[in-house]
Amino acid sequence: MQRCTRSTVEREDEYDIAIVGGGPAGVAAALSSLQLRPRIRIAVVEAPRHDSWRAGETLAPGCQEILRGLGCWDSFRAAGFIDSTGTRAVWGGADPYDNDFLLSAHGSGWHADRTRFDALLCQAARDAGANWITCARLCGVDREQPGFRLWLRSAATESLQTLRARFVIDSSGRRASFASKCGARRVADDHLIGVCGLLPAHGRERATLVEAQADGWWYSSLLPGSRLIVAWMSDADLIRSQRLCDTERWIAHVRQSEWTRERIGGPLLGSLRAWSARSERLIPAHGDGWIAAGDAASAYDPLSSLGILKALRSGKIASFVAIDWLEGRDSAERYESIVEREYAGYCETKRYFYGQEQRWPGSPFWSRRVNGDDAKWRTVKN
Ligand SMILES: Cc1cc2nc3c(=O)[nH]c(=O)nc-3n(C[C@H](O)[C@H](O)[C@H](O)COP(=O)(O)OP(=O)(O)OC[C@H]3O[C@@H](n4cnc5c(N)ncnc54)[C@H](O)[C@@H]3O)c2cc1C
Repeated sequence: MQRCTRSTVEREDEYDIAIVGGGPAGVAAALSSLQLRPRIRIAVVEAPRHDSWRAGETLAPGCQEILRGLGCWDSFRAAGFIDSTGTRAVWGGADPYDNDFLLSAHGSGWHADRTRFDALLCQAARDAGANWITCARLCGVDREQPGFRLWLRSAATESLQTLRARFVIDSSGRRASFASKCGARRVADDHLIGVCGLLPAHGRERATLVEAQADGWWYSSLLPGSRLIVAWMSDADLIRSQRLCDTERWIAHVRQSEWTRERIGGPLLGSLRAWSARSERLIPAHGDGWIAAGDAASAYDPLSSLGILKALRSGKIASFVAIDWLEGRDSAERYESIVEREYAGYCETKRYFYGQEQRWPGSPFWSRRVNGDDAKWRTVKN
């Protein structure tokens, strides 16, 4: 268990559930807990965001049902996000074909501005009665009986604050900030990274485009405000050796694409950002008095367009486990086996989709995925 040095502690509040991370998983957990037990005391701890924009905007069709169930559907519709008509793929051959959401269910989804989407979710959690502790990063954990004391560092003043919680839901994304302090490990099945840029869109093509190349694939998706997010998806070592985090090289690379470049209507807006997009899982995804949800529990390749839907769903299920635990029932093992089973199913589907692309048998990027060479790349980290 990782502790902080005690300096100035401002105050200590007590909660039934502390939720670390206020993304889709954390908000779903908060809203669902408050629906199940309206008097429950919930704190959501959210670290400051230094990014002016975030990758991960295409919401799969299934999000409607879950947002409706959580009571956020009206505000989501009112935000005026763009309907998406699915995914166009240049994958396995030179010609594009339509594929309603590559790995996910059929139907129409949405292109959302992630900053606005996350703000809308935060407002819904606050309105429902969650205490939103913003601009505070979890920096240490002490075991208490019962529950935990969490140490939070304020971004603005660097001062420390603590809170106590009987149960913790870790929804801090791929960092799994709480679980890693309790000794859980991330096991990654590949080293996929997305190097992303925002550009003006040329035209108003609403389908997300994925375009396979010899050493990775391009992802591009329309955003509100006629902007386009374009991401080069490849393995960390290949990106490094080709220096594709370098703006000029990235631009030259996208110019060599056949279809993606046609969607770009002007120069890069701001700088490139790189995000981890590895397929990875947390082991274990629960412990005594805590559970991980969303990307903290398992993170998928963006090819799936499933990250947000999965985060909303698992946040909701995590709330059931939390309530069970608070009321003396233990359903965490069952949750763990759901995460495990879903991850195994996802890996199989992912192998199938990567296996559709046979044009570059000598390419390390594809052979790692198609011939199972990616097993050599499996890494474990705390
Ligand atoms: C390049 C790329 C493209 C993607 N495209 C799509 C897409 O089109 N569609 C889709 O559905 N998904 C997509 N995803 C995946 C999607 O972004 C994630 O699956 C989703 O955001 C997971 O939600 P979450 O709530 O689990 O975690 P996050 O959204 O990552 O939220 C975690 C929150 O925890 C906070 N936090 C972290 N550490 C701490 C700490 N120590 N203390 C307090 N707070 C903390 C962070 O500030 C953050 O707000 C993409 C991902 C990548 C990398």
